[in-house]
Amino acid sequence: MEINSKEFSNKDITVTYDPCICKLSGKCAEELSEVFSNSIIPWVNLENTETKRIIEQVKRCPSGALKYFKNKKLEIS
Ligand code: SF4
Repeated sequence: MEINSKEFSNKDITVTYDPCICKLSGKCAEELSEVFSNSIIPWVNLENTETKRIIEQVKRCPSGALKYFKNKKLEIS
């Protein structure tokens, strides 16, 4: 099964974005424009601010299109 999603990583976390469920509200780009953009591709740049701030913003995504996991705790089953 192919999943139409994208992944972006920094040294701490990986953020995944699923365009199929994004509500295109622009909330992420409005609230953290140094990381998220709706006009530039790639539109997630995790190098532009602190990981803690990125996690806070991902948690505010109303649709669940943005998710994250910590790189060190990635488990493969
Ligand atoms: S906050 Fe979530 S739903 Fe809104 S534009 Fe960003 S990814 Fe899409």
